[in-house]
Amino acid sequence: MSAPNKSYDPVEVEALKPEEVERARDAALAAIAEAADLEALHAARVAHDGDRSPLALANREIGALPPQAKADAGRRVGAARGAVRKALKERQEQLEAERDARVLVEETVDVTLPYDRAPRGARHPLTAVFERVEDVFVGMGYEVAEGPEVEAEWYNFDALNFKPDHPARALQDTFFVKGADGSEESGVVMRTHTSPVQARTMLTRKPPIYIIAPGRTYRTDELDATHLPVFNQVEGLAVDKGLTMGDLKGTLDTFARSMFGEGVVTRLRPHFFPFTEPSAEMDLQCFVCHGASVGNPDRPCRTCSSEGWIEWGGCGVVNPRVLVACGIDPEVYSGFAFGMGLDRSLMFRNGVEDMRDIIEGDTRFALQLGREI
Ligand SMILES: [Zn+2]
Repeated sequence: MSAPNKSYDPVEVEALKPEEVERARDAALAAIAEAADLEALHAARVAHDGDRSPLALANREIGALPPQAKADAGRRVGAARGAVRKALKERQEQLEAERDARVLVEETVDVTLPYDRAPRGARHPLTAVFERVEDVFVGMGYEVAEGPEVEAEWYNFDALNFKPDHPARALQDTFFVKGADGSEESGVVMRTHTSPVQARTMLTRKPPIYIIAPGRTYRTDELDATHLPVFNQVEGLAVDKGLTMGDLKGTLDTFARSMFGEGVVTRLRPHFFPFTEPSAEMDLQCFVCHGASVGNPDRPCRTCSSEGWIEWGGCGVVNPRVLVACGIDPEVYSGFAFGMGLDRSLMFRNGVEDMRDIIEGDTRFALQLGREI
């Protein structure tokens, strides 16, 4: 009589012995438990549950066993592999949860940190000045008017009573635009002031007229710290019955206070302009030193160059010739006009020392001065 398992090959069944299966299972469970991260767990999976792992190899031996032994060995190996896979799954979930928690901490967003690291920019200070000027005059009942920057010579000079030989018409002051055929005498210029808007307004509408015209103007100045070939002015014109120099003074005083603060002192100084009669320059008493720097070398003032007063702009009562040229009866109506440089206003209002800063587009300049509402 031979034993039922007589055909067992001792070598082949070695891997299926209960203690061997347990050893392989325990080694697998230990490796899984020790896997510190997902990479290590992957290595443990290959080593203990892969095709060439001890339990997989043992499983392959089962087929050669007699039926009874096959069932026993199958249960043992199956239970061991089941335990290994369950441990692998649990450890996988555990390591993934740990990784997710770590990512949440490492990549966390601190909502209390400053959020606007990219600079937000600011409007150009000159734009702020334009808007302030418009606000002041709209508040006094004025309208904002516009005119072309490439202007007919007639509007720029003739309508404003500039005689044909007036020096302002000379090439060294004015940009003349060539004709389409290349001719020098096109009759078109880059406007040298905003005053042609006065003529255009008076020709197209009836008094009462209350307008301001802020905008760019052009002269053949070299670019330096105090000159720009393109600069900005605001022109003002009022035409109504009974307007006098007193109305002009009151209007400009209001304008000055809104630009430079309450208490600013102004004065009118006689001057000459072809389009106004009488004409004046308006000066502001220096609002930094209030004149204390005059003749006082110990307290020099950069804002007024220690002169005590700052030239702000020209003004006057509209010359009757201009009214006539624009079809308005000077026996019935009178008016006043004024023109102020806005770049210059910005300079002495905000202590800008070099005009080139205004046009160079350096954002630090706008950030420093452009916050004004
Ligand atoms: Zn001063």
